[in-house]
Amino acid sequence: MTDFKIQTEQFADIRILRYQVPGFENLSFDKKRLVYFLSQAALWGRDIIYDQNYKFNLLIRHNLENIYKTYQGNRESETFLAFLVYLKRFWFSNGIHHHYSMDKFFPSCSEEDFKDLLLNSNISDYKLFKDKSESVFIDEFAKLIFDKNEDAKRVSLNTEEDLLVQSACNFYENVSQQEAEEFYKNQKKTDSKKPISLGLNSKLIKENGNILELTYKIDGHYSAAIGKMVFYLEKAVPFAENKEQQKALQSLIDFYKSGDLNDFDNYSLAWLEDTESTVDLIHGFIETYGDPLGRKATFESLVSIRDEESTKRAETISNNAIWFEQNSTTSIKHKKEKINGVTAKAIFAVMESGDCSPATPIGVNLPNADWIRAEHGSKSVSISNIIDAYDLASKNSGVIEEFAYNELEITLDKTYGNIASKLHVDLHEIIGHGSGKLENGIAEPAEMLKNYASTIEEARADLVALYFALDQKLIELNLMPDEKVGICEYNSFIRSSLLTQLVRVEFGKNIEESHMRNRQLIAKWVFEKGKNDNVIERIKENGKTYFLIHDYYKLSSLFGMLLKEVQRIKSAGDYNAAKNLVENYGVKVEKDLHKEVLERWEKLHIAPYAGFVNPHYSPVFEGYTMVDIEIDYPEDFSQQMLIYSKNYSSLI
Ligand SMILES: [Zn+2]
Repeated sequence: MTDFKIQTEQFADIRILRYQVPGFENLSFDKKRLVYFLSQAALWGRDIIYDQNYKFNLLIRHNLENIYKTYQGNRESETFLAFLVYLKRFWFSNGIHHHYSMDKFFPSCSEEDFKDLLLNSNISDYKLFKDKSESVFIDEFAKLIFDKNEDAKRVSLNTEEDLLVQSACNFYENVSQQEAEEFYKNQKKTDSKKPISLGLNSKLIKENGNILELTYKIDGHYSAAIGKMVFYLEKAVPFAENKEQQKALQSLIDFYKSGDLNDFDNYSLAWLEDTESTVDLIHGFIETYGDPLGRKATFESLVSIRDEESTKRAETISNNAIWFEQNSTTSIKHKKEKINGVTAKAIFAVMESGDCSPATPIGVNLPNADWIRAEHGSKSVSISNIIDAYDLASKNSGVIEEFAYNELEITLDKTYGNIASKLHVDLHEIIGHGSGKLENGIAEPAEMLKNYASTIEEARADLVALYFALDQKLIELNLMPDEKVGICEYNSFIRSSLLTQLVRVEFGKNIEESHMRNRQLIAKWVFEKGKNDNVIERIKENGKTYFLIHDYYKLSSLFGMLLKEVQRIKSAGDYNAAKNLVENYGVKVEKDLHKEVLERWEKLHIAPYAGFVNPHYSPVFEGYTMVDIEIDYPEDFSQQMLIYSKNYSSLI
């Protein structure tokens, strides 16, 4: 597919891309059916994330889509076009808050014009607020969309005030931060060696003064969606490739039926055991970035098939995991004595849903429970077809030419950029997240480091990848042809952390998102500590700021020093040190530099975020018998979103 169109459209700060699934056609019919049923199970969870992100999101989605489908006026008017952009942004973020900054965003038309759109569409098809009339609806609905103060942030990490009161996400209702923290503290069994991830799959509400936990399960919260998911998971079971995979699917089904977090751990263990299958599935309540208290998980699903060639690279890294652990800069007492089965592989995404879609991760390392990782290891994947799509889309975008200081840096990037970023992702996921251990008696980071836990964890994983990027060992293991790959990685890490990632922050705001905080934290720290030796020079030429690395080896040892400290913070649960590091280096943005970067970026006309349209799978029938599954690659993002809302709605 040489003429495959990667980018299909761009609006606001978003580009829509497509990924290909190499090798799907050559899968056996059984594996294709497995992929198909798992994809259905993935899509049936889509409604859940809308509701988790904000309690009115599903109602808003229904009503916005009603305007899209039934508006009678001029569909070329400025107002309607502004509405279209807003609706696409809404789909992209799975709700009214920006997927990355977490801030509420707004249509660029006026509230009055928006009301006209509402009135000139099919009024009887709107979903109304409880017990409210249609006329009240128009005013209140427009206000919900346009009010700048109401539910302005999905996840707030501002510790000055109650995190739950400030956050619009839908994991807690009428519950204060203190009440939520106490609720879980009282449940905590401190002696347990196998602590379940308390609160992972539930919503906390207060009713008549009592705090109740609504568990996500069949016959519980989100039952309608989970029931559909289970229906398709059960259809997939007969096509499991082996016993391990069958057991994993079955325990996932059991978990959705019981909602018991011990069952979730059993599922995670069974999933870890399945290392041989071509088809794999991540499905459930996994990541906790959407909860300001870092406890409750959003729904996500990723269906994949193995990328055999890149898997060889990942396996080489994981087979040498203990070498990396022993040779990292962390202190002996924070190192693992042995590394339990970090299985690493590269995959091609086949279907993404929930928190993985339309914006997607490029690598995943699971399960998250620290005790399982310590005792049983983890499974780490990098998503080759997504990384390749980004790479293809970014070639010739002009970003490197604008922000790299010299020709050499640009040439290096063009030659080694792809392998450097794949290697970074592999080291980050396989070695980084899998390394290190907690000191005896120290509780999990979510408990100890609270709102700084995610940033510290990401910093740790990035620092491992950065520290080893120049190591001869990588050449010895045939992972990179020479050190230029590492040099290229250092250039691009410093460039993106100190300059280009700022385009993702609105002018005047601080950095909120954990991965971005982590990157700035690292880059600012090494810049400051290397200042006397001129390790990294800050240059300003013709009004443009650049960061030029002079001493790559010194930089590597600075990464090592910070790695040691960040590992100590996690292992010892040192909240104050985490707070100081993150607040002093990771959060604040230099105003003048921010302004300059935004201006330089604007001239390039590239949206800073990207997300993907999924492939579409359709069964082929002969008579009543399914004989094949076909793949095609839709181009129209809006059509895909409408089809998903029509075919996979269960909660509204
Ligand atoms: Zn990570």
